[in-house]
Amino acid sequence: MIFKVFPKKKLSLLYELLAVNTMVGPTLKGKDRNGKSLYDFDVLYTFDDLALDYTATIHSAKRFVLPYHEKLSSFDINKTDWKKHVDINVYKPLVFFGMHPCDINALNKLDMVLAGNVYPNPYYIGKRKNIFIVGLDCSPEPQCFCHSMGTDSALHGFDMFLTDLGDKYFVEVLSATAFDFLSQIKSKEPSKKDHQHYKQVNALKNKNFATNVETNDLTKILDLEFDAKAWDQWGDKCLSCGTCSNVCPTCYCYGVEENIDLDLKNANKIRSLHSCNLLDFAKVSGGHNFRPEKSTRLKYRYYHKHRGFVEAFEESLCVGCGRCGQACLADITPPEVIASVRGKE
Ligand code: SF4
Ligand code: SF4
Repeated sequence: MIFKVFPKKKLSLLYELLAVNTMVGPTLKGKDRNGKSLYDFDVLYTFDDLALDYTATIHSAKRFVLPYHEKLSSFDINKTDWKKHVDINVYKPLVFFGMHPCDINALNKLDMVLAGNVYPNPYYIGKRKNIFIVGLDCSPEPQCFCHSMGTDSALHGFDMFLTDLGDKYFVEVLSATAFDFLSQIKSKEPSKKDHQHYKQVNALKNKNFATNVETNDLTKILDLEFDAKAWDQWGDKCLSCGTCSNVCPTCYCYGVEENIDLDLKNANKIRSLHSCNLLDFAKVSGGHNFRPEKSTRLKYRYYHKHRGFVEAFEESLCVGCGRCGQACLADITPPEVIASVRGKE
């Protein structure tokens, strides 16, 4: 890997060079009722829209590659054929500016499913092409447990990654395009002192995690505890609202609907993201529901994240961002659920 440094005052210059593309980054969205700032990923129109000192955003940038609702195809009787709406992102590249490691790792996990050999999804792949990612280091918040999930740093899936060293950024460079942009702003080779400082910043970050999840043998524990009472207890609390999936950067389950106009002249096929916690998620033709109880649906979500995905891809589908716990009106958080299933309160 190549490393560079550049003074912080050159960040706006780097932004302007990239801003010939559509820029997406963390923006301030207001305050909650306790006065805490709320951030979300959105399209940026100027450098000043960027809120790089952001705390975890409500949603990740997932919606730019996996929209909540997406028209897959449509039929117009006058044209007598189905039109596929694959959005090939070749002519309008996106730049994700300021992505934290957990969200970069979340995209890497989505790629494994939707851009791999098993279930290649042309709608996702089309959008995912030509995305340039500028990663940014962060400080752990109380709800973050990315450290436990091995996603507190990103080893791939970005073009350049910035670590704040006070008056300069230390940059990890992974792509030739990133190298070119950094040459244009005259970035330099880091000194030995910069290396030292970078290592200190990372060591300090590692010390600051307040929430941990014991992931050792978790797949086996989940098999052993399939009938644990804890699932019923959490199921009783769950409202089946699906908010956890809505904010999760790695949830990708969806449903497909076909709609036909009353005059039978136009039809379309729409895909909408779904949640395994919703009542009808496992309902099939004929009306049978494989998971009618809240506890079985909530359990399914944990088994998919921490067992099924591990079996298929040798890593968990959770990046420990803590968003689901923050958004849940019933205060259901993965660290507490996993601890209780392990028999620890
Ligand atoms: S776990 Fe929380 S956010 Fe998820 S469906 Fe249940 S109540 Fe809603
Ligand atoms: S399950 Fe929760 S903590 Fe894990 S990636 Fe999804 S939102 Fe983040």
